[in-house]
Amino acid sequence: MKENEDIAPHVEDIARVLGDKVDKEEIDRELKQYLKEYRIPLSTAKQMLVKKYGGAPSNLGLGVFKTVEQLTPNEPSVDLLCRLISVNHKDVEVGGEKKPIVYGILGDQTASVPFTAWEVGDWQFQKGDVVRVRNAYTKEWKGQPQLNFGERTNIERESKDALPNFAPTPISDPKKYEVKDLKGGMSNISLVARVLFVEKRNVNVGGEEKAVFSGIMADKSGKVQFSAWHDFGLSEGDVIKVEGGYVKNWRGIPQFGFDERVKFEVLDTDKMPPLDELAERHVYQIGELIDRGGAIDVVVEGVIIDIKSGSGLIFRCPECKRVLQKGVCRIHGEVEGKADLRIKAVLDDGTGALTAVLGRDITEKLIGKDVKECREIAKKAMDQSVIADDLKDLLIATPIRISGDASFDDFGIMLIAKDAQMMSIDVQKEAKTMLDELEV
Ligand SMILES: [Zn+2]
Repeated sequence: MKENEDIAPHVEDIARVLGDKVDKEEIDRELKQYLKEYRIPLSTAKQMLVKKYGGAPSNLGLGVFKTVEQLTPNEPSVDLLCRLISVNHKDVEVGGEKKPIVYGILGDQTASVPFTAWEVGDWQFQKGDVVRVRNAYTKEWKGQPQLNFGERTNIERESKDALPNFAPTPISDPKKYEVKDLKGGMSNISLVARVLFVEKRNVNVGGEEKAVFSGIMADKSGKVQFSAWHDFGLSEGDVIKVEGGYVKNWRGIPQFGFDERVKFEVLDTDKMPPLDELAERHVYQIGELIDRGGAIDVVVEGVIIDIKSGSGLIFRCPECKRVLQKGVCRIHGEVEGKADLRIKAVLDDGTGALTAVLGRDITEKLIGKDVKECREIAKKAMDQSVIADDLKDLLIATPIRISGDASFDDFGIMLIAKDAQMMSIDVQKEAKTMLDELEV
């Protein structure tokens, strides 16, 4: 311990608890004695001193002095000497009331960490200030510690040379991933991908209008939706490198997110396959989709093993489009239904199974009849389930290729089809396999 430098905040801490009862020089002398002569650990020595002078040890900032690198999630009280790397002000809504907070990043020579100050008071610290923070606490966010300043936290400005100059580094280096390996809940991700599409939207975040730049990006392993909460000047075709992003599930599909805190770079466009190549749909195994928890714009190939109820000729409420049960809408009662076609199929490819939902256009194409013809057939048979039976005969045990967006929920993967084609079975290949088997 570089004693005078490091012991001073603890002397201050003890003096704060004891009020005017004892002067600081005396505390300083005694604390050093406890530490050096009696070799008592710092936190115990502080408590003993406070007790000796009739104070309450529980009022001490237990404040273990730590470097940023030493921070772990859910620490009740930590002290730091650090530099404010970024400082932002905003209002959040707490219990219907607007409340100002300050957030940003701070760091020392070991690492940097995001912080949020919940009790701003007369906040007077700026980017670049070196501050001594006492009694801060940490929480966990996506596996990483996040520093919080609350009511009990004390912040004081120190001289700028109290900390050496350092280049801020993330708390740990971001890990490189390919798009296909992105899963909800991941953080601190490094990703290189090409922007296939981007648009600016305005969204309401906590009562505040914010611009978000969202779209789709891809590498050779697949595509992912993204949201950038900062204007990086993204445009279609850009190859970008983002370090420090995260993945959230949005409507059952993993989505890549990043904001002004990431390291961002535009790379040479030849670092990635061209846009039209990346825009092509990527063939996934169903097991991969289950593992990843959904993905956009995928192709799967498998065999239909079941056609679920609610497939075939259905009638929808003209008001709300809900499927009618015996001519009755759950909301609008008895109505004149509008005929529609749909397939809910269970698709298996050997690595897993999913439910695919195929709408009218695709159903008409597969069955080779339009909705009008299907209605006539059902009318003649006086039974609307004949269409579902036809679909079962046609599709069960049939290899098929389906493309669309795959979302994930408690029931597994649901693929909303954009297109589907029945695949011809490779007769020669099958014959050869059979021959090979016979030879054994
Ligand atoms: Zn209705």
